[in-house]
Amino acid sequence: MIPVTKPYLPPKEEYQEYLNGIWQRQWLTNMGPLANDLELRLKDYLNVQHLLFVTNGTIALQMAIKALGLKGEIITTPFSFVATTSCIVWEGCQPVFVDIDKDSLNIDPSKIEAAITNKTSAILATHVYGNPCDVLAIEEIAKKYNLKVIYDAAHAFGVKIHGKSIFEYGDISTCSLHATKLYHSGEGGLIITKCPELLKKLAFIRNFGFNGPESFAELGINGKNSEFHAAMGLVNLAHINEINDKRKLLTEYYNSKLKAFQARIPTWHKYATLNYAYYPLVFNDETLMLKCIKHLNSMEVFTRRYFYPSLADSLPFIEPKPLEITDLISKRVLCLPLYYDLSIEEVDLICRLLLRVQNN
Ligand SMILES: *Cc1c(COP(=O)(O)O)cnc(C)c1O
Repeated sequence: MIPVTKPYLPPKEEYQEYLNGIWQRQWLTNMGPLANDLELRLKDYLNVQHLLFVTNGTIALQMAIKALGLKGEIITTPFSFVATTSCIVWEGCQPVFVDIDKDSLNIDPSKIEAAITNKTSAILATHVYGNPCDVLAIEEIAKKYNLKVIYDAAHAFGVKIHGKSIFEYGDISTCSLHATKLYHSGEGGLIITKCPELLKKLAFIRNFGFNGPESFAELGINGKNSEFHAAMGLVNLAHINEINDKRKLLTEYYNSKLKAFQARIPTWHKYATLNYAYYPLVFNDETLMLKCIKHLNSMEVFTRRYFYPSLADSLPFIEPKPLEITDLISKRVLCLPLYYDLSIEEVDLICRLLLRVQNN
């Protein structure tokens, strides 16, 4: 059986080492030494100024909206994971969907201005599959209309653009360190901002708003993460180069084998590095895609229609809104298996199965 994804698991002994330390210190959570160490190492690895390790990528988004004090409407993308939209609603704001660009599959900046009203407070965009949004165009619009920008960078761990971390763009960027992501801590998330005041506010918010044992600075929540998760993050970070190398190898093998296949991969940002987080294919034709899914499933190979359906058209708490490009693309996009343990032979098999369906 070949699943669409599988979490990376480091050598058990390396995790065990960290557990021994946890047992000695008997410090399990609340910004412990491992969580602090992970923050320092990630800041260094990612080359970002400030970073907070939090419970997960969803709470990271909610904390970002809260810290920026956003109200009213937030312009966002319908082509993302459900948390990108639900965090907006959860924070009492209203998502306003803007269609995506057919090549990058990210929010189309040329369509943002038309969606701005006097209630708009921010833009929340996703770097889909780790492929950066047009951050410069978005920044320009945000400046012109005095809007805040949050990037859901859950897929974008390690990506650099114009030579610096993609996490440094926007007022706040968030990342997910969930088990299925490229780099993970089991459960976990990151919040990145360049602004020291925002950082301070976010640090209060992460810890119930506590400012010392008997006073409060903010309306907070429990956004902390544990020493067990930090340990997983630390061990995995030591293997990040192997993880990246393997994913690159598999991706390039897919590319080479699928040259004659009637599907395309999204157009990557010209000035950005790749992180090989996913292997998405946009099919020319939905019928061929459905046939491929069926054939692969019959051979115990599992794919995922990621993202389908459109968030603008499928959530029970949101009035459905058709969007031309999103609706066309989300019907024809499929992510193929990609994970550290996947072998070249397995990729070869997957490609042969796909080509067989096409050529039949
Ligand atoms: C995974 C993911 C999230 C949520 O992160 P969790 O850590 O699972 O809460 C949010 N947005 C996108 C685009 C994601 O892929």
